[in-house]
Amino acid sequence: MIYLFSIDVEDNRPAVENVKTFQERVYINIQSYLNWLKKYNFKCTFFIVGQAAQMYPFIIPELLKEGHEIACHGQSHIPLDKMNKDDFRRDIEKNLNALHKAGASEIKGFRAPVFSLISSTKWAYEVLYEMGFSYSSSVLPARNPLYGWENFGEMPKKVDPGIIELPMTLAHFGLLKVPAGGGIYFRVLPEFFISWFFNKRLNGDRAVLGYFHPYDIDSGQEKFMHPGINDNKIYNWLIYLNRSKVFDRLDHIIQKGCQIITYKEYIEKINI
Ligand SMILES: [Zn+2]
Repeated sequence: MIYLFSIDVEDNRPAVENVKTFQERVYINIQSYLNWLKKYNFKCTFFIVGQAAQMYPFIIPELLKEGHEIACHGQSHIPLDKMNKDDFRRDIEKNLNALHKAGASEIKGFRAPVFSLISSTKWAYEVLYEMGFSYSSSVLPARNPLYGWENFGEMPKKVDPGIIELPMTLAHFGLLKVPAGGGIYFRVLPEFFISWFFNKRLNGDRAVLGYFHPYDIDSGQEKFMHPGINDNKIYNWLIYLNRSKVFDRLDHIIQKGCQIITYKEYIEKINI
């Protein structure tokens, strides 16, 4: 089974009050991911925010040297519904410039910040197509407190005018549908649930898509209240929960027989 493990490279501090009082942790966490990927000789896709590429330009050549794919994740991590089509075009231009300047080329993929590609922001596909992108992995095809496009469907498909969308894979458990292959869900759900979800997929021909962030593995980060969650203490606690268990959990998934490849390689394999 193919596991489209990916990393959204962003700093989770910038919108925090007194940001400078908290350590920057992106680089050290990327190194941990690189070491883990190297252990299995897996190549994956890094969706990189332009501001992060400007802050850590030296990361890009390191990723390229290891054979990983570089893709866009917005210049400043602004959700699509907070922009219009022209703002989005400018934002992606800046994101591409930052990545090109750091040494990346032939960027074909995009992931919308916080999966904000929904029915009302689907104009983004036109901009991506005009700008030469081939694929997007920006849709969470379920109801979600933040963003979700429930009617999109769970299968990859070509969206007008010609972008392949690879939506997040959902675990179905009764009425609950969650993207258990990555991020906060992969960390906070009990491991037997994650294991059950991957076991069900093992012999199928559908890939599991998942996303991680530098902070998802960072058990050394100071505690602060994250912005954008209305001071919700429980949610903030979940943001830190089980970070130290992620690599063990990932090892267990890989030992089941999953293989990680880049998104670019995957869309070349599938016939859409
Ligand atoms: Zn993000």
